[in-house]
Order: sequence, then structure tokens, then C-alpha cells
Amino acid sequence: MSSVVLVLNCGSSSVKFALYDPLTDRRLLSGLAERVGTPQASVTVNFPEGRRELGDLDGTDHTGVLNRVLHGLQGWLAEQGHRITAVGHRVVHGGEKFSSSVLLDEATMAAVHECVPLAPLHNPANIAGVEAATEALPDIPQVGVFDTAFHQSMPPVAYRYAVPSEWYAELGVRRYGFHGTSHRYVSEAAAEHLGRPLGELRMITAHLGNGCSLAALREGVSVDTSMGLTPLEGVVMGTRSGDIDPGLPGYVQDRTGADLAQITNDLNKRSGLLGLSGVSNDMREVTSAAASGNPDATLSLQVFEYRLAKYIASLTVAAGGLDVLVFTGGIGQNDARLRSGVLHRLAHFGLQVDESANSRAVGGQAGVISRPGPVTALVMPTDEELVIARDAHRLATAEGSDR
Ligand code: ADP
Repeated sequence: MSSVVLVLNCGSSSVKFALYDPLTDRRLLSGLAERVGTPQASVTVNFPEGRRELGDLDGTDHTGVLNRVLHGLQGWLAEQGHRITAVGHRVVHGGEKFSSSVLLDEATMAAVHECVPLAPLHNPANIAGVEAATEALPDIPQVGVFDTAFHQSMPPVAYRYAVPSEWYAELGVRRYGFHGTSHRYVSEAAAEHLGRPLGELRMITAHLGNGCSLAALREGVSVDTSMGLTPLEGVVMGTRSGDIDPGLPGYVQDRTGADLAQITNDLNKRSGLLGLSGVSNDMREVTSAAASGNPDATLSLQVFEYRLAKYIASLTVAAGGLDVLVFTGGIGQNDARLRSGVLHRLAHFGLQVDESANSRAVGGQAGVISRPGPVTALVMPTDEELVIARDAHRLATAEGSDR
């Protein structure tokens, strides 16, 4: 029997899962449950032999779905000679309590519960996933991997807001940052790709997907990031505004009578590329609308690129300069036009785009996209699930050896 690791990413109405071989880092299969919590819940598994729908959902909550998934995988696991020996969970918010991945037990789960007010939509779904997996696999170690953990190394000068101190002390109002698993992975992978020690590089990593965030690294750790108390702060995203004047919601409220919840929802779901372009939150669609002459789409691309470059420049203060700039995420890995635009705007740092290398670094291809100079820009595909699988295996194995 060989060990495999189950990776779980539970959202409020979806469960993404994957199985990894911890010895080879290979993803053996993946799957997705959608509309969890409704009678229309469905589960699809991408087996190596092909895609299969799992029917007979015995219960539509996370526990029911997970039981069905595990039951559905049982035959395949036995056939392949595999046994699940660890479960890795993506957990969105670890507050100030977690600066690295942990084994989930009663004490650490109590701390995850305490972080619910910081991520009221996400942490409860993550907790439901842990509870369901613990019930289904009671003897298997469960490991939590937090989106916020990597940024816990930020110094107070980067994470405090200039607001009344009691908001920090009593409510936990500070900058936390997200996408930490991705920033951690691509920073290590980029250093390895360049054959240079991560600890010696002043680096900025740009995770540009539906959500977008940047991290500044110095001596191998995150010293600042663009997202804050919530994922709304920072650069322009698919549907999120990124930074705005904090006076804006009050102004809109006064003028329209909309309440704060509505305005916050608009800033999260109706802003960003979608809000500016009126076309879509999807970079590909906005790009093609701009190419067919839509001026709003063109402006939204320009704002996205301009603010991104401006933010990268500002984070050089945190990194103490800039040696390496890394692009990742669906946009970062594929949008050569945007990368070229950003590098042009950062030319005063000594960045010069290598257009042909840049146009080749798409579709999951890693590579340097700048000409030789003081700053190296590169594309590095991210793999958050792999990090979760590796951490789960490492901590589960360490626990086994303690026994
Ligand atoms: P998520 O953050 O949900 O994981 P992804 O990292 O997959 O999302 O990123 C999704 C974004 O990547 C979308 O805006 C999509 O348009 C963009 N994207 C994917 N492929 C391309 C491409 N070839 N060119 C430009 N943008 C792309």
C-alpha cells in the first residue's frame, strides 16, 4: 500500500478535492462538488481514465458530499494500492494565531473557530470540511494550511492601520494578507529556477487570478503584501475595487441611500475589471472587448496595469529594493501583453522586457521574461494544492514518528 494525501478546499457551496502522491508530488486525480447544501448537489471526479459523476448523494451538506467522495474513491484507491494517510485543508483565515501549517486537533480547531469573525463566509465552510473529514477518516491526521500564515512575518509597521488602537487590540483590525500559500510556493520556485538563494533576494511576487495580490519578500519572508484585513484592499481585481478612498462608501451612501452592506458587496462583486469595463470580470473577455474597440474595456485594462505597476513600485520600499519580480496566477501566467505593459512602466528600475521570451511564457510555462539587468522578471506557475499536500504529508509523518 502506498500513501496518498487528500487535499480539500471547502467553500460555502463547493468542495474541491485532489489526491497527491507525496513521494513524487504527482496529482493522481482531482474533483469538484458543486451546489453543496442544495438538492442539486453534484460531484465530478477526474480519474486518470476519465471524468465520472458520482450520484447517490447521501446528504447534501459537506459531510454527505465528503462521504460520497470517499466512498466513490474507495474502489479506485484499493485497485491502485493506495491508502489516504493525511488530509490537508485549505483554511482561509488564521488571524494572528497561525504563522505556519498545523495539525488540526481540539486546541488548534478552537483557534480556527476564533478566527471566524475575520472571515465569516470562508472559515465556517473550511471548518465544516475538517469536521466532515475527521468523521469520515477518524484515524488520519488532518492538517490546516492557512492563506494568511505566510504573511505573519510582516512587521507592525506594515500590518498596522493608522486607526484607533483599540480597533486593533479589541477587534483584530490590522492587515493580514491572503494568497500566502501561492506567494510562498512561487517565491521558492522562482529562487530555485534562478539558482539563487531565496534569502538573498529582494523579491516581489504578483499573484494575478480572479483575486489579485502582491507580496514583498526580504530575507526569504513576507514583509508586506497588498491585501489587508480583507481581500478587498490592494490592486484592481476581477470584481474587487482594490484600494479606494475610505471616504468613498460614506459618500455613495449619502448620495444613494444604499446601506453599507450593499456598498461593500458592490466593491467586492461589481467593481474591478467588471465595474470599469461593464463587460466582464474575466481578463480574456475584457481584452477581446478592448481589441474590438470598446473604450471602457481599454480603460479598465489601463487602470489595472497602471495600479499594478504603481503598487509593485511601492512595495520596493518594503523589500528594500528589487532583484526579482515574479508573475503568477491565471493572468500572471498567461497575459503577456499585461506583463509587458507593467515592465515598461517599471523601466526606471532597470527592467527591460524580453518580448520574445515574454510571449513564450504562457500556458503554464515558467521562464525569465526580462533582459539581463539589475532586476529579473519571471513567470512561475503556482500550485497551491501541491503545497497543501506537501505540508499535510510532512506534518502527518512528523506526528507518526513522535508516537
Ligand atoms: P482563480 O483566482 O479563481 O484561481 P485563475 O488564477 O485561474 O483564477 O485566474 C483567472 C483569470 O486568469 C481570469 O481573469 C482569466 O481571464 C485569466 N486568464 C486565463 N487565461 C488567460 C489568458 N490566456 N490571457 C489572459 N488572461 C487569462
